[in-house]
Amino acid sequence: MASKDEELEESFDTTSSIEVPKLLIDQIIGQEHAVEVVKKAASQRRHVMMIGTPGTGKSMLAKAMAELLPKEELQDILAYPNVEDNNNPRIRTVPAGKGREIVMAHKMEARKKSQSRNMLMMFLIFGIVMYSFYVGQLLWGIIAAIMMLILAKNFMPKEEMMVPKLLVSNYEQDNAPYIDATGTHAGALLGDVRHDPFQSGGLETPSHDRVESGDIHKSHKGVLFIDEINTLRIESQQSLLTAIQEKEYPITGQSERSSGALVKTEPVPCDFIMVSAGNLDAVEKMHPALRSRIKGYGYELYMRESMEDTADNRKYLVRFVAQEVKRDGHIPDFDQSAVDEIVQEARRRAGRKGHLTLKLRDLGGLVRVAGDIAHAESAKITSAKHVLAAKNMARSIEQQLADSYLERRKDYQLFSRKGAAVGKVNGLAVMGGDSGIVLPIMAEVTPPQSHAEGKVIATGMLKDIAKEAVLNVSAVIKKVTGENIMNRDIHIQFVGTYEGVEGDSASVSIATAVISALEGIPVDQSVAMTGSLSVRGDVLPVGGVTYKIEAAAQGGIKKVIIPWTNKDDVLIEEAYKDQVEIIPVKTISEVIEHSLVGSKKEGMREKLKELTDMKVDLELPDSVP
Ligand code: ADP
Repeated sequence: MASKDEELEESFDTTSSIEVPKLLIDQIIGQEHAVEVVKKAASQRRHVMMIGTPGTGKSMLAKAMAELLPKEELQDILAYPNVEDNNNPRIRTVPAGKGREIVMAHKMEARKKSQSRNMLMMFLIFGIVMYSFYVGQLLWGIIAAIMMLILAKNFMPKEEMMVPKLLVSNYEQDNAPYIDATGTHAGALLGDVRHDPFQSGGLETPSHDRVESGDIHKSHKGVLFIDEINTLRIESQQSLLTAIQEKEYPITGQSERSSGALVKTEPVPCDFIMVSAGNLDAVEKMHPALRSRIKGYGYELYMRESMEDTADNRKYLVRFVAQEVKRDGHIPDFDQSAVDEIVQEARRRAGRKGHLTLKLRDLGGLVRVAGDIAHAESAKITSAKHVLAAKNMARSIEQQLADSYLERRKDYQLFSRKGAAVGKVNGLAVMGGDSGIVLPIMAEVTPPQSHAEGKVIATGMLKDIAKEAVLNVSAVIKKVTGENIMNRDIHIQFVGTYEGVEGDSASVSIATAVISALEGIPVDQSVAMTGSLSVRGDVLPVGGVTYKIEAAAQGGIKKVIIPWTNKDDVLIEEAYKDQVEIIPVKTISEVIEHSLVGSKKEGMREKLKELTDMKVDLELPDSVP
């Protein structure tokens, strides 16, 4: 829960009293730079590329951009039959809303024409039948009438076929179109021509009527948003580039063997602003020509993941809750206690001291779950207790997986929480960015397998950075223990790591386990630790300390050693505060002091201290006479 000084400066009863701006662009929080660029891009019709984590407001910005575009310029697009070349339908544009009128007028006309033709036919047939009856040849008369009907049905021109097709309609649109083309196939993106199973014999659908517009055409004079642009096939990216350059793109059948492939319309206008999005990887895998087009004629934006924890920004978060409540429309308003909890959660999720998360889609999810819980209880107002309940309920897949790992680890006693053991350390790791796990690490020292030299052998599916961390640790150990580890093998095992280990946040734990194994000094099993280790023995900061400490507390650990530089990042839930003692440390000697037990510990600690003290002298040249 938020403490007094962390509470929101301006008080309010419920979020219903907070004003939500009308325009989407004014509802965007924490991305001031992006908002400014998008406004500029909208007024100058420039393309935009947004890079950043999912859920930080990229599609919201694209939608907001569409709202800023002038709707006076909107057009409707029509496809007309081409009498000279049936496979080349004509394309016409008219002001927005007119397209519908034109199609309706054509339909009326066609209906009138076919009605009068039918009347004429009826008269003729009636005349023939009457005449044949008069001359005593009724049977022939009926046969002639039927023949006439068949001929008329199949071979007389049909007025309906000449009615134009409305490809893009902006009838009664309040804003310029916003089209999300994420993950669409070529047909949906570039337009397509439907296959006609009856290509001849008078039953065919006229080709202009089979033309379907693509997202690039539907977003004419508006915004085309494409997330994860790199997943678009390279041919589609190429076509997109052509569309951007030409501002028009003919529609043709996308499937080669269909009758639609024969049809190609006149160029169809597609003057859209492209807003593409993705993570950094997306930029690398994007078609280089498309990328350079955006670079040369547009803006590239990096979305922020967190904002400073200031009074103004907290106020924005309050408004964010109000916005989400309003957008949902079904959940009760939040009172101040509930909003305080959301703000506190935003602090925790930022994982950085003095910051609030901007991964607002997830935070919005929490708002909705809390609201749903309140709604289910028929509460009029959502309060703190609902948010707290929601936090337990709305756990990510990774968190749920971490919970089940923790259970399993406890069941099988993969890590111990009591007593002391040589070469065994409770390390801590994060999974999926927001859930911690206890990761036991064991070290064993054996005579070398090869006669030439000893090796450091690490198992447990270590990835590159973790492997390098093991090497750095070996450097510290060689220097400190004075042991000639060249003639011993050191085995380091990460226990129960099914998805592999990444990062160097386990290096302090590895060092402790190895020192313990080499020197035969037991490690206190009620302690867990996280921290990166420099080659000179400093403990460096790591990510996800809050989640790691919570996982340790859940696992029944009593003390958690963390890097000193991370101490302000700790925002653990109230419930865990009494369960664990948090010990921030600066050097490996402090780690040893708090984690090893027994009489030999002191000597070791002294040796390690010498290593780090030596460095202090080196770093202060001014003190040297
Ligand atoms: P992205 O496209 O980056 O994955 P979205 O724009 O789809 O994220 O965001 C999803 C939802 O999260 C939005 O509809 C909005 O409710 C909320 N949201 C995300 N970022 C912001 C932001 N910066 N300001 C306000 N709301 C946001």
